[in-house]
Amino acid sequence: TSLVEKVPLAPADKILGLTAFYNRDPNPKKINLTVGVYQDAWGKVTTFPSVAKSQKLIDNDLLLNKNLSYLPITGCKDFETNVMNFLFKESMHHPELIEQDRISFIQTLSGTGAVAIAASFLSTFITNEISVPNYSWANHTNIFTKNGFPSVDYYPYYDRKTGQIDFQNWINHLKNLPFLGKPRGILLHASCHNPTGLDPTRQQWEKIIDTIYELKMIPVIDMAYQGLETGNLIEDAHLLRLCLNTDKYPHWNNGIFLCQSFAKNMGLYGERVGSLSIVLPEADSQLKERVNSQLKRIVRGIYSSPPGYGSRIANVLLSTPNLKKQWFKDVKSMVERLQSVRLAMFERLNWPDLINKESNHGMFYFTRFSEGQVNELRTKYGIYLTLDGRLSLSGVNNYNVDYLCEALQNVSK
Ligand code: PMP
Repeated sequence: TSLVEKVPLAPADKILGLTAFYNRDPNPKKINLTVGVYQDAWGKVTTFPSVAKSQKLIDNDLLLNKNLSYLPITGCKDFETNVMNFLFKESMHHPELIEQDRISFIQTLSGTGAVAIAASFLSTFITNEISVPNYSWANHTNIFTKNGFPSVDYYPYYDRKTGQIDFQNWINHLKNLPFLGKPRGILLHASCHNPTGLDPTRQQWEKIIDTIYELKMIPVIDMAYQGLETGNLIEDAHLLRLCLNTDKYPHWNNGIFLCQSFAKNMGLYGERVGSLSIVLPEADSQLKERVNSQLKRIVRGIYSSPPGYGSRIANVLLSTPNLKKQWFKDVKSMVERLQSVRLAMFERLNWPDLINKESNHGMFYFTRFSEGQVNELRTKYGIYLTLDGRLSLSGVNNYNVDYLCEALQNVSK
């Protein structure tokens, strides 16, 4: 008997599968609000000026442009230096971590790759227990269960009834988790929580991190949207700065895992540019060497080495002061447009959470629509949200906002 003939059909990807439906929809007014890719006010996916200029520099530099050789297993050394400086010196204000050689760093296949390598490393050496928020990016569960975690635990995050952070239940849940002999990882969204767009307030974060520290959990921080919360890249690293506050948290027993992506904030989606940093509990060069050696082994067994072109763009951008300045502006403009979309929708719908800047952030707005309502939007109006009711604000513009808001109003009745 052939086992390959018995392979069952996997469910369609919860997010990317919907675009296939959208593409087939003949409705001329259709709007795709499923995917988290930034579009400008004309509905176009554009390249940031800072990124386009970096590309030009690379294209004009024959040496850079023509070198299509392999990168090392852990990525390009310059990329490592530039990204670590950007993250740990500039964003987090902890240059001593670099000086003390306390960070085990690899260039990854964007944020997804960073989470996957972190998951594989954790499950091999440290723990196969992880708590992820309910809700979360649908791929988190997929990544952990494909990389050595038998299952994942879901901690209460979002109260669908009130549209608020389910704060007390979150803390209670963590405190009541049984201790099964191993420390437990906890996945945290650094900012712009996906899919809800709702982040804890700074005070809530402090209480949450206090609890996580007390319980000796291992923070696995997914920072896919640095810059998209406030429009300021540096400001948005606040969760990392909090975790690294040594007065409050002198010793993270098993370190801190940071999975970082330039997909959204540099618009490098398809180039797969990101990083995994493991902040080790103490400065110990032998420990770092051992951790690095194992990360390399994992990478080698999956894809050998990361792609080159996108990381060169990031490299040039981060190491050229005027381009970096331009990049900060580009991110700010993107966020300003997303905020203007929120405002335009608020003017039409009068839904206050659309413009609550303290807690509603980023590219997504969570409608709290039921699956039935999401289906109604799709079949009656050709408007596509993900099934959990997440709406990507980036697909909204002056041309479709009236039609969209009228439909949202009708469906919410
Ligand atoms: N984490 C979250 C929460 C995300 O929303 C995304 C992008 N959808 C990612 C990680 C990773 O994206 P990428 O692999 O494109 O960097």
